[in-house]
Amino acid sequence: MRYDAIVVGGGLAGCSVALQLARQAHDVLLLEKSTYPRHKLCGEFLSPEAQSSLEHLGVLEAVYDAGSASLTRARLTGPRGTESAHALPGTALGLSRYRLDQLLYRQACRAGVDGRPGTRATSVRGSVDEGYVVDAGGETVEARPVIGAYGRRGLLDRTLDRPFLQQSSPYVAFKAHFAGDHDISDPGTIELHTAPGGYCGVGPVEKGRLNVCWIGRTDALTDAGGTPEAMLNETLCKNPKLDKRLGPLCRVSDRYEAVSQVPLMPKSRFAGDVCMVGDAAGMIAPLCGDGMAMALAAADLLAPLADDLLAERRPPTSFRMTYERQWTRTFGRRMRIGRWVHTAAFRPTLTRTLLRACSALPPLARWLIRATRG
Ligand SMILES: Cc1cc2nc3c(=O)[nH]c(=O)nc-3n(C[C@H](O)[C@H](O)[C@H](O)COP(=O)(O)OP(=O)(O)OC[C@H]3O[C@@H](n4cnc5c(N)ncnc54)[C@H](O)[C@@H]3O)c2cc1C
Repeated sequence: MRYDAIVVGGGLAGCSVALQLARQAHDVLLLEKSTYPRHKLCGEFLSPEAQSSLEHLGVLEAVYDAGSASLTRARLTGPRGTESAHALPGTALGLSRYRLDQLLYRQACRAGVDGRPGTRATSVRGSVDEGYVVDAGGETVEARPVIGAYGRRGLLDRTLDRPFLQQSSPYVAFKAHFAGDHDISDPGTIELHTAPGGYCGVGPVEKGRLNVCWIGRTDALTDAGGTPEAMLNETLCKNPKLDKRLGPLCRVSDRYEAVSQVPLMPKSRFAGDVCMVGDAAGMIAPLCGDGMAMALAAADLLAPLADDLLAERRPPTSFRMTYERQWTRTFGRRMRIGRWVHTAAFRPTLTRTLLRACSALPPLARWLIRATRG
């Protein structure tokens, strides 16, 4: 089978690129190893910047209709009860990935994408000049180009021998939805609670539920006894504000979504000639709450360039150089600042100092919030 383009991974970046190429009348295959809908590890805070992408993809109304929460404020707390609250630079949304990914996938299929949920790509061979062969679900498919939108870390990173795998990552992350008789007097607030060993986001999503998602060091998980509950209760709830917040809540998800080896180190945009987008091209620190907006914005950068490549208006070398240059110019600075703030969040004294400075100097907080997004 032959397609114009194959997109590996049907998350936000993959659905968006596939949809935009299909709108330009290209024949696009979208491979997704899971099925829709399904829960996914994410804080589910959609930063204000994501909305223009969702609008031109034609799903913003559906995101509102799905009952997404509106968020206008951020509350940051640190060990020993330090706290700082700030307005967001616009209205953010809270919607589960269970709903959001399915909305985008359906929209991509409506645009003509050949979507194959439940189909994992296991290898990619070839080049942009000669075309690629992708093995997926027991079949072999051909295309030019192949776009890697398969998220933060996957089987293809190994088969493509990507250099970032040589560094190990000390981070694990978990997520679940919670509900309960809690004070929702200020429902439009995204919260970030830091503690020695990790940090935890608490934010509303649809149906009055709260997303509770945290990232921490693997040794904090082991020291707490190895289970997500123990890590949450014994490590992160050392922050008294988080302990109080979670006290009246109970988990409504069947299980915790979990990932290990969360790769925050820099990555390359290309593996051989396979072009990466979304987390596969580089993952911003979760506390920035900008990964989804970045995945959508990177898809918006890539789609017109891939369209030019397919229509032979742009040679492969120019495609490669232009995407690399635009990606670095758009995201490079916020990735670096995000890594720095993430490191600071693991150091209690630095976090306390930073939160006090943000309270005393609101322009500093505004600068930090802006510097970690587009
Ligand atoms: C702890 C944590 C909290 C976060 N909180 C937030 C937040 O609140 N707000 C925010 O904006 N961002 C957040 N992020 C980041 C955000 O989740 C990602 O940036 C975003 O999901 C990236 O989208 P993507 O499309 O690149 O990848 P993904 O959404 O991961 O999609 C990749 C898809 O590829 C599929 N796939 C993988 N391998 C294959 C294969 N071989 N073949 C076929 N399919 C494959 C996967 O099943 C998946 O559906 C958080 C991340 C973490 C770790």
